Amino acid sequence: MSTVKDYFGSLVFDDRVMKATLSDKVYASLKKTIDEGTELDISVANAVASAMKDWAVSKGATHYTHWFQPLTGITAEKHDSFISPSPDGGVIMEFSGKELIKGEPDASSFPSGGLRATFEARGYTAWDPTSYAFIKGKTLCIPTAFCSYGGHALDKKTPLLRSMEALNKQAVRILRLFGNDSVKRVTSSVGPEQEYFLITKEMHEQRPDLRFTGRTLFGAKPPKGQEMDDHYFGVIKPRVAAFMEELNDELWKLGILAKTEHNEVAPAQHELAPIYATTNIATDHNQLTMEIMQKVAAKHGLVCLLHEKPFAGVNGSGKHNNWSIATDAGQNLLSPGATPYENAQFLLFLCAVIKAVDDYQDLLRISVATAGNDHRLGANEAPPAVVSIFLGDELNAVLEAIETDTPYKGTEKTQMKLGVDVLPKFNRDTTDRNRTSPFAFTGNKFEFRMLGSSNSIACANIMLNSAVAESLKTYADRLEGVADFETALHEMIQKTIKDHKHIIFNGNGYDESWIKEATEKRGLLNYRTTADCMPHLLDKKNVEMLTSHSIFTEAELKSRYEIMLENYCKTIIIEANTMVDMAKTQIAPAVEAYSADVAKAAAAKKALDSALVCSYETGIVRKLSALTDRIAVKAEELENAVISLNKAEDIGAESDMIRDTVLNLMGQLRLACDEAETLTAKTYWPFPVYADLLFSVK
Ligand code: ADP
Ligand code: MG
Repeated sequence: MSTVKDYFGSLVFDDRVMKATLSDKVYASLKKTIDEGTELDISVANAVASAMKDWAVSKGATHYTHWFQPLTGITAEKHDSFISPSPDGGVIMEFSGKELIKGEPDASSFPSGGLRATFEARGYTAWDPTSYAFIKGKTLCIPTAFCSYGGHALDKKTPLLRSMEALNKQAVRILRLFGNDSVKRVTSSVGPEQEYFLITKEMHEQRPDLRFTGRTLFGAKPPKGQEMDDHYFGVIKPRVAAFMEELNDELWKLGILAKTEHNEVAPAQHELAPIYATTNIATDHNQLTMEIMQKVAAKHGLVCLLHEKPFAGVNGSGKHNNWSIATDAGQNLLSPGATPYENAQFLLFLCAVIKAVDDYQDLLRISVATAGNDHRLGANEAPPAVVSIFLGDELNAVLEAIETDTPYKGTEKTQMKLGVDVLPKFNRDTTDRNRTSPFAFTGNKFEFRMLGSSNSIACANIMLNSAVAESLKTYADRLEGVADFETALHEMIQKTIKDHKHIIFNGNGYDESWIKEATEKRGLLNYRTTADCMPHLLDKKNVEMLTSHSIFTEAELKSRYEIMLENYCKTIIIEANTMVDMAKTQIAPAVEAYSADVAKAAAAKKALDSALVCSYETGIVRKLSALTDRIAVKAEELENAVISLNKAEDIGAESDMIRDTVLNLMGQLRLACDEAETLTAKTYWPFPVYADLLFSVK
């Protein structure tokens, strides 16, 4: 029997395969490109392409594709076969270095937010050699970035790579100041924990809302939901276990380090966490993971729901972005060190993150903003829309001691002088159990918990890397060339703590009183919806920061603003239209049919004995009649509200109208329909209800 070790990465053109199939010279040259970002020579590219093709063909591949991540948030691919005609009437399998390095998908239908005028509709894809090529089905997939001919990034990978580069540049400057002359590269790493729901395919097919929008738009609270907390970490059901087993196998073959799996809080909800990897690889892997989850589910007669809020009243799904930065020598820069000097360095990086999160609260909020995720943030199941940092009591006490030049509890020293004192050892286990914080320090990494389950992690990490690069740049600019490094460092850390401590919050983030304190006393931002936060992407300070590090051009930012809001509007319009349709053509007729039968029953009873009161039937018919009237009115109002969106001047105005009217009307229509559900005999209800959906997988 083959073991995981035998097939792990068997579908990846990874370092092992490269070593085995490339000449020493080609391998060394490619490795230099991967590790140091040097440009690749065409003769090397030709040799790599040829080896890749031979390897892929030996695994049964017939096609190749440049695999990329357009701004739709999902991945895209266009397949070309390797075949080329040979003079004797047959074919040969060919793949050149040119084809490997650059592709030209006809990409005019991808969103560009106005970046790609039609005359340059083509756009091109460029190989990202730092992320290994892999085989999916019969296709060799080459991870690529996607740009317009004008050089604008049309994808999420390009700015992500740029943000990693910016972080690298500034972090290396800081390390040099601490006397580290050997470091070549600093990279950020991410381990994304992915939540999802599984329901049966039969159930899914019967619900237009799930099919068209990925979430239920109707559904009364079931008699049993998650109140017993009996699902979390509970025994995994056989059908789910079979799904997970196959999912793990598929991910392992693709070199994805799927590590942990368990049931989550809500019924039918589960989680998968991989071992962390370099950010762009973790991003590619997370996109693949989401895709393969849905494929494997389908093979098991299941549907994997990645929506942030598939069911009202039940916990939604998020994604925890565990993030750290490390040197090429493997030193984690967010890990407290053993010597005073290492501690000072750690505290400086910690401060850089604190400052970054505070200065760019808005960008972090924006990076997770979607119509789906708006349902979670601040709904007592996920962090609030207010960004704050959890550090834990011990680290907090250290920062307080530094800020006030007072002794740290438990030490006899008079003060925490950086570069002189050794930091106390933190007890890691006590630091990471605050589940309510949007941004928590967990011993040697930060866990950003606001991401939605369907989000690409690219966006959050672009903003995080860039904002931290900006803090580090401020620090390096100040410290380089200073006469007394230690004093300057101490003062700067002290100043950061003073200026930014209002972002640090170690209490319960789900508490109503926190939101009041955060917004009223501390002046933190609270952008509840995508429509609220998105315009701030174009705030001067944000544009300046992101353009100064060459993460985005101003035009690229404008395009992202347009696309994100367009996406928000389209998503909600589809939901509204689906609701109107279901209410009119399924729910109202079902309620009418039931009322008519109840009325008929009452009439029949009265015909038998005119003295019978039939108050039960009368009560039901009255209530349902009032409800169908309301359903009809609300459906019409909602329909009209959607039509009137045509009048919006621009996408900003349209998203405001959606937030202010369409979403409210959707809520009102749902309320009437859900109440009708509780009064209508189950046999009349036109689709499976919550209890059916949530407990469908045995
Ligand atoms: P939990 O959050 O459930 O306590 P862990 O904190 O151990 O679990 O790990 C959660 C995720 O964090 C995993 O994907 C893990 O690989 C990742 N992780 C662990 N260390 C780091 C690190 N230094 N940088 C980035 N991610 C990390
Ligand atoms: Mg975690």
